[in-house]
Order: sequence, then C-alpha cells, then structure tokens
Amino acid sequence: MNANTLLADPAAIEIEKFVSHDNAITIVVRPIQPTADCPQCNQPSSSLKTRYLRRLDDLPWHNVPVRIELHARKFRCRNELCSRKVFCERLPQVVAPFARHTVRLAQAFELLAFALGARAAARTASKLGFQVGKDICLRAMRRRSSLSKPTEGDQVCVLGVDDFAFRRGCTYGTILVDLEGRQPIDLLPDRTAETLTEWLKAHPEIETISRDRSAAYADAARTGAPQAAQVANRWHLLKNLGELVERFFVRNHYLLTGTAAVVRAEHLGKQSEVELPTGAKAKSRVLAEKPVPPRRQKLFDAIKELQAGGQSIRRIACELQIARNTVRRYIHCETAPPHFAGAGRPSSVLPFAAYLQQRWRAGEHNAFRLWQEIKAQGFSGEVYAVQRFVREWRETSVGKVPCPVTSRGLSPRQTAKLLLRPDNAGSEWERTYLAKLCEVSPQVGVIQHLGLDFQQMVKERRADLFDDWLKRVAASGIEALQHWADGLLSDEAAVRNALSSQWSNGQVEGQVNRLKTIKRQMYGRARFDLLRARVLHRA
Ligand SMILES: [Zn+2]
Repeated sequence: MNANTLLADPAAIEIEKFVSHDNAITIVVRPIQPTADCPQCNQPSSSLKTRYLRRLDDLPWHNVPVRIELHARKFRCRNELCSRKVFCERLPQVVAPFARHTVRLAQAFELLAFALGARAAARTASKLGFQVGKDICLRAMRRRSSLSKPTEGDQVCVLGVDDFAFRRGCTYGTILVDLEGRQPIDLLPDRTAETLTEWLKAHPEIETISRDRSAAYADAARTGAPQAAQVANRWHLLKNLGELVERFFVRNHYLLTGTAAVVRAEHLGKQSEVELPTGAKAKSRVLAEKPVPPRRQKLFDAIKELQAGGQSIRRIACELQIARNTVRRYIHCETAPPHFAGAGRPSSVLPFAAYLQQRWRAGEHNAFRLWQEIKAQGFSGEVYAVQRFVREWRETSVGKVPCPVTSRGLSPRQTAKLLLRPDNAGSEWERTYLAKLCEVSPQVGVIQHLGLDFQQMVKERRADLFDDWLKRVAASGIEALQHWADGLLSDEAAVRNALSSQWSNGQVEGQVNRLKTIKRQMYGRARFDLLRARVLHRA
C-alpha cells in the first residue's frame, strides 16, 4: 500500500465524486479493473452480475471523518469446474472482506493500540477524527500477534534471559531477548526450569545464554541448550557483592556506631573523651551508649527464638508478618541492630561551608542572602538547607562546620557504598571515616581490597585474575566472603564467562523496564496474551 496517495490503490479504484457534509466528507469510489479474479479458482472473469454499495470508514482529513461509498461489484465465475458461481470482487489493498474500515484505517488504529493500549487508543482515535471502539483495538492486537509468531523463523545466537513480575512477590514470568538483534523475542508465562528448557530445545541454534544466577535458569540452560555457553550477569555479580558487604556491616553494626562516635568527637575537638572501640569490650560499651528501642528488641528476640526452634526464614517471616529480608538481616546478628534508616546523610551545603563561614564571620547572617550567593556559585539546593546549616551558628554564634557524620552514624548500605567506590576520590571526611573504620576493624580493610579487586575484574573482564582472587579470599579468614566465593564456584563456568564475555544482561534489564511500563499502562487488567503481544510488537 502506498500511503502517500489519496486513494488506497489508484490502480484498482477511482474517485467518482466528493460529497461534503457539515461534519464529514464522503468519497464515492468505483472499481476500474475490467476483470476480477475468482477467490476460489483464481480465474479472471469479466462477466459482471451486479453492483452493490459498501460504506467504509477511511483515514480522516484534518480531523474530519472520511467515509467511502464503494460501488462494489459481483462477478460470475465462468470456470465450469469451479464450485463458486458468483463472487464479490476482492480489493486487498483497499478493504478486507466484510470489513467496515479501509485497510489503512485498520493499520492506523492497530498502531495506536500497540503503542497506547486499547482504551487509550480508542480515546486518542476519537480526538484524531476516527471512531473506533476499544474492543476492536483489542481484537486487532490479538489478531496481529496470532498472525506473526516472532519466535518462528528467527535465528537467535545470543539469548538474554531474565524474570519479571506479574505481581511482585507472587507470580513471575520470563522474558527472552535476542541480544544481537536487541529485540525481545518471547515471553514465557512462568519462570520455571521446565518451561524454559522446552523453549530452548526448540532453538538448537543458540550459542550463548546470558542469565542471572538463579538456579532454575542455570538448570534449564544446562538441559535445554547443552551446546550453549552460559554467562552470569555482571550487574548481578556486583550487586551481590554490595549486598554481601552491607550484610557484613549489619552483623557488625557496632563498628559503624563506634566509628561515627569517634569521627564526631574528633570533629568537635574532644578526642580525649572517646577511644577507638576495638574488641568485645568496646562493643558492649558502644551498645550500652545507644539502647535499642524495646519494640525492635522484642522483634529481634522473637526471630531468634523461632530460629533456635529450627524454623525456616520463610516460616519466620510468615509467622511474624514481616519481610523475609528483615528476617535474613536479623538472624545473622548477635544483638539487635540499631535503626539506621534515614541515617547520616551529610548536608548538601557542606562543599560551600568554608565560604559560608567566611561570610558569617564578616557579619552576613541572613540565610536567604547567603543562599543566593552560593546559588550563584553552583549550589543547587533549596534555601531551607542553608537555614538548617547556619541554625547552630545563630544559637552559639560560632561559625563551626557541623560534622558530616551525624550522631546516628552511617547506615550499613551507605558504608558499603563508600567502601566499594572504585576511585579513591571522595571528600575528606569520607576518607577519614573509612580510615577510622579500617583502624577499628582490620577485616574491613581486607574486605575493601578484595571487593575492589573483584569489581575491577568484572569491569575490565580480567578472568585471568580470578584464580588468584579466590586464593586470597580463602586466605583472608573472612567467613562471609569465603561463603560467597563458594557460591561463585558452584556456578564457575558462567562466572568465568562473565569475566571474559562481551555479552551481558544490561539490555535485558532495559527490556524488563519497557515491559513494566507497558504492564502498568494496562492497569494490570490485561491477560498474558495481550501483554506478550504488546511487548513483542515491532512497529
Ligand atoms: Zn471460480
């Protein structure tokens, strides 16, 4: 079809006349070809039997609806062997048999439906000048997806696999992406090994499978595509490392509160009052200073009691009606960890502290004017941040910079992030904090080294350093790291491939984000077939 001509198929039809109404245009059209082919026997016939009128909707002009009056024809089939005596002339470029819309109008609302979803497509269409119901849009999408099976005939060499949630925490599906073609190629209704195995068996051409480290996908890849090399997802490897370090700090939370106290005391110039909390004695002292809220302590005791009774994490979470991650965090701790949420983010004004100090001493005590001045220097925050920053100065009339480490200390997650930041840049207080932390516990320094080396291996694809790294982990004496390394070794081939292969699941994550957007656009009402149709649709 040539969409740039006024008529859908100028070789087959011609315009007889235009009729203009107040709110619509009618084009009277008639077929011009001398013969028509019988749909049954394909023989051409010129024996006209009768004419009849078909009324069709066409693409609007300037948002004005356009109707087509097609003077369609019926022919006699003169082939004696054909069972068809009379047939209607087919105009495949103009309109489908029995349809009430021209082909190009149907294509337009199909495009809208795939892009917006049926309900929004129907609404948009009426604004653009053509009427189409949401049910027609739904039918169009289902028809298109059943006509084109994208997995058939496609040769996939490099496959990316990931899961996505239909309902988070309840039901999951699997998305399969052609990493070379950068296209999603199929959606599976669950994330079990059996379903994926079956799919993989139908695609023996696959050479590489990039996946996360879930056991189900690993099993499926082993049995369904034994010929393919498996690649663990690099992003997940780094994420697992970060979680591991965070868990270490949750378990040893006294290190964080203790270090924060020391850094603050030094900042305030009271070094003699606080010593570095090393060893078990310091641990109990720090804990005595910061009592855990009773509710938290009660929850911790309940978890510990259930754990001692041999209950699984899932059962404990179910019984206490809390998240499984909370249980996981608590069961590794000896004592209840303090509340870190919302802890210690340093003020955004801090980089401008020296300038503000100088202005304050020069007699400028108006927070709004100070804010305007540092805004001109590139400060992007609000005036409230400056007001908060100078509040203490106003009360004590001393221009001292507040300690970046607040009294609550940094949370395990913040500390893990700081510790694993690849460059040694960071601000001065961050370096001081980390140095103190390493002083308090030498293990922290070892974890930092091994963690940064692992990150470098992953980012620079240095598979050659992996064996040496494993040896150093084994010699480090840090149980959490050793346990993690054992886990990596149980999936060794895929992890080694991740350290050398060019393929990774990055773009699969992008496709999952696209899928989530589509899913939410459908308000969670659509069934799997429609979601699949929209995710796989290529405009
Ligand atoms: Zn025929």
